[in-house]
Amino acid sequence: MTAEHIAPPVAALFPGKEVRESVEDRLTRALADAAQRVLAGPVMPDIDLVALRRELAAFDFSAPRPLQELIDWAIGSLEHGTVHMTHPRYFGLFNPPANFPSQCADRISGAFNPQLASSGSSPAPVAIEQHVIRAFARRAGLPEDSTGHFTTNGSEANCTALICALTRADPAFADEGVRVFQGPVAMYTSRECQPAWHKIAHQSGIGRSALKLIATDGAGRMEVRALAEAVREDRRRGIVPVLISATAGTTGAGMVDPLEPCATLARECNIWYHVDAAWGGAALCSDRLRGELAGIELADSVTIDAHKWLATTMGCGMFITREPAILSEAFRVGAEFMPSSAIGIDPYLNSVQWSRRFMGLRLFLSLAAAGWQGYGAHVERAVQVIECAKARLLARGWSVVNDSRLAVLCVLPPAGSPPVREIVSRVLASRRAWVAVAKLEGRDVLRICATHGETTLTDIDELVAALEAAR
Ligand SMILES: *Cc1c(COP(=O)(O)O)cnc(C)c1O
Repeated sequence: MTAEHIAPPVAALFPGKEVRESVEDRLTRALADAAQRVLAGPVMPDIDLVALRRELAAFDFSAPRPLQELIDWAIGSLEHGTVHMTHPRYFGLFNPPANFPSQCADRISGAFNPQLASSGSSPAPVAIEQHVIRAFARRAGLPEDSTGHFTTNGSEANCTALICALTRADPAFADEGVRVFQGPVAMYTSRECQPAWHKIAHQSGIGRSALKLIATDGAGRMEVRALAEAVREDRRRGIVPVLISATAGTTGAGMVDPLEPCATLARECNIWYHVDAAWGGAALCSDRLRGELAGIELADSVTIDAHKWLATTMGCGMFITREPAILSEAFRVGAEFMPSSAIGIDPYLNSVQWSRRFMGLRLFLSLAAAGWQGYGAHVERAVQVIECAKARLLARGWSVVNDSRLAVLCVLPPAGSPPVREIVSRVLASRRAWVAVAKLEGRDVLRICATHGETTLTDIDELVAALEAAR
């Protein structure tokens, strides 16, 4: 090799314009065809895993293969090898079929691949993300100077809340860690919280035993008196309370903790107040439903996942806070090599991530295309789907055990039916619909959630028929 020679680009990785265009055109059509087949097929995967493993074993990566062939193989694997969240009879966990504008956004950010760590390298993307974050902050009723960022998910946003809480509780936490506190620290959320809090307590260094799970009121909402009692009792024992997290839309039953009373308690006790609205935060878009989240405006920080009820592609959470200075303090770092900028907030100086994808474009395009009104209609439609399912099941002797105005329904079958777990496994085996077993106040319930934007009355009838056949 001489200093005057470099090899041609690796064509498999960087094909020419013509090849790209033809592969992309075919890909667009192949994905549309696959989507049609998914709608007509079963909700559950029907892949032969033994065959798949054999095929995988043949990928020893010793010889290159044509991309076209690989794309077809990948589409087939996803078409047959996943529970289809894109199916209108997926009444499942908070996983949406991705709305179309967010899919367009992924293509755009994939093509430009901007580095969102710094506003120096990505002035426009960082400004767009900030604009969306502020729009949601205002919608939630938080102060004008609130800030935040996009996260990979709700867990990262919740973890960020805990780090901010610790940072505000004692400025020396930054250098000394939790040993700076007078005693063991504690955070509080309800028994019905999303279980990632256990991992967050672990990874943040406060330890899993620092997570205090407060009793609920029999209907899945945090009991404020029990919360106040726990905080008082812990203080008496030398424990240092740092964070209260109320859930607005519990994962199991869509219940909203008493947001205002929790805020009042947190303020009186000088504890960081977080509202985990990962799923339920979408209700802010609807003028009819946003009142369900009254009190969210009192939060120090809020988590909202756009990849749940707002139906963007996966991995699009938001952390929003009224404390910009604490956020900057929590993630400050010096890095000479980073492009500096005076024009705005640098994500790498205000969040867990460093290299980061342009996630916010997904929500920007969706919200701009639909407007608050369109997003509100999407959210209200999900509630209508649940109301229809509820009416049909009540008429057939089922009972409703959660009192949520959001789009989750928890039911129990009529007396004499098999246990909920048995019914759910029969429904899944029938492949006609996807529903879950959840725990509400310690007992198994059958959980039906509407996240799909295109579910029809026919789909609801099919769900009800599948449930009836399974009991
Ligand atoms: C989904 C969810 C989380 C976790 O969010 P991920 O995006 O899955 O990490 C946290 N809290 C609540 C209430 C949730 O519904």
